[in-house]
Amino acid sequence: MLYIIFLTGVCNLRCRYCGGTIPEEVMPHEIQYSIEDLKKFISMDNDAIIAFYGGEPLLRINYMKKMMDLLPAKRFVVQTNGLFLDKVPEEYLSRLDTILVSIDGREEVTDYYRGGGVYHMVVDKVQKIRKVYHGDLIARMAVSQESDIYKEVMHLLSLPFDHIHWQLNVVWAPDESWTDFDSWLRNSYNPGITRLANLWIEELRNGRILGIVPFQGIIKRMLFNETGLPCGAGRDSFAITTDGRILACPIGGEFSWNELGDIWSKEPGDIRNSVDVDEPCKSCDLYPICGGRCLFANKERLWGMEGFNKICGTVRHLIAEMQRARDVVEELIAHGKFKMEDFYYPPFNNTTEIIP
Ligand code: SF4
Ligand code: SF4
Repeated sequence: MLYIIFLTGVCNLRCRYCGGTIPEEVMPHEIQYSIEDLKKFISMDNDAIIAFYGGEPLLRINYMKKMMDLLPAKRFVVQTNGLFLDKVPEEYLSRLDTILVSIDGREEVTDYYRGGGVYHMVVDKVQKIRKVYHGDLIARMAVSQESDIYKEVMHLLSLPFDHIHWQLNVVWAPDESWTDFDSWLRNSYNPGITRLANLWIEELRNGRILGIVPFQGIIKRMLFNETGLPCGAGRDSFAITTDGRILACPIGGEFSWNELGDIWSKEPGDIRNSVDVDEPCKSCDLYPICGGRCLFANKERLWGMEGFNKICGTVRHLIAEMQRARDVVEELIAHGKFKMEDFYYPPFNNTTEIIP
């Protein structure tokens, strides 16, 4: 299973859609448990993937190193804002299977959401580590009203990332990000997805699979009949807070449906398959592919049903575009241009949630 470990609640940035450091009422800023106790818990799972998370996890590189040396995990992942990537010793960098770096696309868009100068600092660190890091380097965007999905993805594809992933800035927290969500969806986001899908299909015909994670992840679900919530929250993905509590989803530590006990009183086997999405997802025609998109959004309808349905409209559009791509993928596999396994991405739960 995947364990998302909060190394700290502190963050050195304060992005518009996030708010930065997690309040102490939600979770203590620093780790309160002994790594030995965490090791005892993780050791009960022979198939553990560890993802370091925060706050900004690379503010606590020493903790990360200790855990990488002690925890019996098959894979290590980090989700970072990228600003301290050059501080990670090469030996540890090379042991990370996946590094997800937060960057929101073009310079003006990234700096608008994340703070002036952030884009250049992040790109500089990414270019530095790219020379020595040969694992999967993923650009991770939060997509909001200033984002033009086509332009942001195209821009990130020109940087030395292997894959591009994004989440829509919807439902997490009511903020002032949106003034006209409907027209953004109609005039910018959905047409942008169509343009990207056209490009993706064209490149497939040229023998190349562009690293656009939502496309790859949906095609994988279609070809390999993967079902259920794509991020795995509450099924086989859990977060461990700095005080040793276990959450189904790393965001929203304060919600009771999300609290599953702690590393001292539970074993991995007790928490597997412990939370699932509710209606309307289970009876939705898109459920076999969408899987309910996001457990948090399903439980906390912070935008009400009207907002929930609008977001489902983006899923409907995206899946329709990928149905079109699937036909081409199957044709190309039949003609020997690709192997089925070429479309097995992500190869393990690397914290990309697939459906934005
Ligand atoms: S499209 Fe919406 S209702 Fe349907 S499964 Fe996905 S999140 Fe649930
Ligand atoms: S997709 Fe939703 S439920 Fe899954 S990890 Fe992200 S916020 Fe949590």
